Amino acid sequence: MDFSLSPQEEAFRKEVSDWLDENTKDLPAWWRNRDRIAVDSESEEFQVFSRQWHKKLYDAGFIGIAWPKEYGGRGATIMEQAIFNEEMAKRRVPGGVGGLGVGWAGPTIMAAGTEEQKKRFLPKILSGEEVWCQAFSEPEAGSDLANIQTRAVEDGDDYVVNGQKVWTTGGMRADWAILLAKTDFDPNTPRHRTFSYFLLDMHLPGVTVRPLREMTGYALFGETFLDDVRIPKNLMVGEKNRGWYISMGTLEFERSNASSSVGQLNVLKNLIELTHNMERDGRPLSKDSTVRQQLAQFYIEVNVGKYMGLRALTRQLRGDMPGPESALGSLLSMELSQRLQDFAMYLQGPYSQLVSGSKHAIENGSWQGSFLSSRGNTIMTGTSEIKRNIIAQRTLGLPRYTQ
Ligand SMILES: Cc1cc2nc3c(=O)[nH]c(=O)nc-3n(C[C@H](O)[C@H](O)[C@H](O)COP(=O)(O)OP(=O)(O)OC[C@H]3O[C@@H](n4cnc5c(N)ncnc54)[C@H](O)[C@@H]3O)c2cc1C
Repeated sequence: MDFSLSPQEEAFRKEVSDWLDENTKDLPAWWRNRDRIAVDSESEEFQVFSRQWHKKLYDAGFIGIAWPKEYGGRGATIMEQAIFNEEMAKRRVPGGVGGLGVGWAGPTIMAAGTEEQKKRFLPKILSGEEVWCQAFSEPEAGSDLANIQTRAVEDGDDYVVNGQKVWTTGGMRADWAILLAKTDFDPNTPRHRTFSYFLLDMHLPGVTVRPLREMTGYALFGETFLDDVRIPKNLMVGEKNRGWYISMGTLEFERSNASSSVGQLNVLKNLIELTHNMERDGRPLSKDSTVRQQLAQFYIEVNVGKYMGLRALTRQLRGDMPGPESALGSLLSMELSQRLQDFAMYLQGPYSQLVSGSKHAIENGSWQGSFLSSRGNTIMTGTSEIKRNIIAQRTLGLPRYTQ
């Protein structure tokens, strides 16, 4: 593992820094503080701004940095992608609309899709013209993904799909979804060989998405209902009944995207600022020995996360998939993000119950929104228990748990 940057990488960092310094002067303050306030990502303002910002990044060649040139990417290395992500996070700059598409739907299509699918979908994922969502989870298939019940039945040139998905992030405004649906109905077939991986046009007749309101007050995700939706056969990714293997690759890409040590560092910096501004018994909290010990401990953990991220990156630079280690980085990052938010509540004591809009709320109640939304962090991309199972089985070689 080599932590130093090559001259080419240093030059790239400078190019990115210069561009970002020049182009982020006018970003609204609420964008920069997204890690401190729960933003209504479904609002018109958010959507319009995201698309405009995405286009700006795309026109400058900063979307899909590590994607091959033939698919519209920059053809740069994963290290350069990581440098770009770091410079963005340092400035608290948003990434555009294509997070899921660029992060894991596109890479899955690149790895397992047909040439026709690559040509049709990849350019529009990059340009942000088509926004993607992920329709994997169902009411009875979350951790137990092999229990997919949505049915896709062959009929002429199409599959006719019926069923219900849930927790579809951004489903209300997505143009396309990566979808898992059952295509083998023989009760004797092992469950992980009973479903296939599809690309679903969210604007087709029979697709309905109902928003689900979270405790933050915002509706980030929805329930997706599929009633006799006709998906052309050429929109299946990989072979029939091999959806399990392809979706495992998607989840590895997703988990490797989920850990950002720079994002955690930003939250830690906000916490440190809070301890300077709050007093107990006439002294700033930053002088309290218990508080200082905890902040130093967080700093250590943020750095552990950084080096785990670099290890996953080294693996990808060698041309491997992110691998089961992506569960390790993602687990650490997600649990740490909650502990950082919990500590902000602890520091505020009884004031932690005052939300945005309350007269005496600390820092305008901004921590309360991020505290509430962080509860989902140890569920999305697989729960902490599932990630520990992956680490136990695939990294430590422990036997599979059975009751
Ligand atoms: C913010 C957020 C965004 C999401 N976005 C999407 C999305 O865009 N698309 C999508 O398809 N899904 C999405 N999800 C759904 C997410 O993938 C599931 O919620 C997750 O996989 C858990 O499934 P579940 O909710 O059915 O819980 P369950 O699987 O029912 O789990 C319930 C509890 O049992 C535990 N458990 C289950 N099995 C085991 C086991 N074998 N060993 C030990 N413990 C176990 C779990 O850890 C958990 O604590 C999102 C979830 C959240 C919170």
